[in-house]
Amino acid sequence: MKHPNRSLSFTTPIFISFASILFCFVIIATLVTLIQRNDIINAYHGINRNFTHNTAVNYAESILHENDYILGRATTYLARNNELDNVVNKDPEKGLQSMMQLLSMMPTVSSLSIADTEGHYLRAPQAIERANAPVFDATSRPWFIHQGDVGIFSRYTQPYVDFFTHQQTITLAKPVISTDGKLKGTLAFHFDLTAMSHTLRQMKPPVKGEFFMVNHKGQALLHPDSSKLFQTVVPERLLGNMTAGDGEIFDKASRTWYYYYSFTNPDWFVIYKVSGKTLSQLAHHESIIASWGFALAAIIIITFGLYLRQASRGILMNIINAIKTGDSQHAPGLEVMLHKAIEVNKERERAYVRQATVDSLTGCKNRWAFDTDITELMNTHQPFALALVDIDNFKSINDTWGHLSGDIVLRNVAREGITILQAHGLSLYRYGGEEFAVIFTAELVQQAEALLELWRINVASRTWREEGLKVTFSAGLGEWHLETLEHLVSSVDEALYKAKRQGKNRILRTSDS
Ligand code: GH3
Ligand code: MG
Ligand code: MG
Repeated sequence: MKHPNRSLSFTTPIFISFASILFCFVIIATLVTLIQRNDIINAYHGINRNFTHNTAVNYAESILHENDYILGRATTYLARNNELDNVVNKDPEKGLQSMMQLLSMMPTVSSLSIADTEGHYLRAPQAIERANAPVFDATSRPWFIHQGDVGIFSRYTQPYVDFFTHQQTITLAKPVISTDGKLKGTLAFHFDLTAMSHTLRQMKPPVKGEFFMVNHKGQALLHPDSSKLFQTVVPERLLGNMTAGDGEIFDKASRTWYYYYSFTNPDWFVIYKVSGKTLSQLAHHESIIASWGFALAAIIIITFGLYLRQASRGILMNIINAIKTGDSQHAPGLEVMLHKAIEVNKERERAYVRQATVDSLTGCKNRWAFDTDITELMNTHQPFALALVDIDNFKSINDTWGHLSGDIVLRNVAREGITILQAHGLSLYRYGGEEFAVIFTAELVQQAEALLELWRINVASRTWREEGLKVTFSAGLGEWHLETLEHLVSSVDEALYKAKRQGKNRILRTSDS
């Protein structure tokens, strides 16, 4: 079988168009999703950075500043007029009262110590030394050790274990120096980091994450989970990279984001730790609606593509059908042009059929039409009679007056016959060169011979333009008795042959009719 021409395939362009639309759509949707996802994550970075910055400045830094300020004021007071000596050595009762007053101003400080240069000290609240306990030596404390360092600034100790409470702590200490530059001793605030950490628990971070404060070694100084205090919660290598005042760092190893704010004195960091997974989930969650929208749009495109493919097939089938049947009334809303094209096509087809069944020279029906008509009668068992007519001496007519005159004779003999037969609804067939056939249907079988006779006389008595031309024909006539077509034709032919032998210009019936 020959393959249909590819240029006639209309489903291919539709398929290509929709596949291209879908392809572009998927690319655009993917790009938009990626950009949107990136934007969402960047927006969260901004929010988390701001949260870290604001909390560090408003909470942690303000507490540190406040304590530092009070410490400064208190040391200035103790530096005047041997006040430190009065508090520690001369009147510790009164000194303790003053210290307790000072302590009550600072909710984040759990206790404080004052020591002179020799290590005589006063602690508020007072610590009771048990009889068999080791002797407390203020000079061995981290906050005292730096007393001799040159400088007037306050400093924070590293985390250490408090002698009395046995708890880890950090101490803010400042040397007491008189106006004439003499070192008198030290004032130290011991922090209650657990109490300070409680506040962190009440904070509501923008996304799920941990918020805490560490020193430069990564040890937690403030942490909502107090069991993590003084443990290393940020790798030191990461802290080394937190060089800007604030910002964020991504730790590839743990896939975690660290938002930070760094202080200079002390060199501590406020850290807000958020896992990369949390951010991804948030971005995913926020872009999921858009993704569903894109998926739905893609499904709609595919559905319309399939529908268009199917519908166009249907329309084209209807068009083909209309061209075939000529019924353009039901053509599916196509333009008048299509309607006209179908009409023209149908008219052309009718002309073809006419050409195929009509003999162009004589205007008779042709041999093909004869075969079709007689076969139909035989198949439906309708009685009929067959006549075969042959022009006498036609060869010599051709030879004497020429082929053209022969054609004219043929046409006129036919016309005489058609005139008589058509009046009775009968057809004349051109059977061969100068041979004709007539099929007499049941109701005309009786009149067959008379009609043929009329035709014969009309032809024979006709005068022709060519001088001396006489035209006659002979005919055989026979009724059908359910024999085969071959049988019938040969018996009618026999009668015709007999008519020729008997002298032509006559009509003879077959022996059995
Ligand atoms: P008979 O009386 O025995 O029928 O003799 P005849 O000459 O008519 O018969 P024959 O079969 O010998 O000759 C038929 C001739 O008809 C032969 C052919 O050249 C001529 N003929 C057939 N068809 C046409 C045609 O369409 N036009 C013309 N001009 N001549 C044709
Ligand atoms: Mg012949
Ligand atoms: Mg002849």
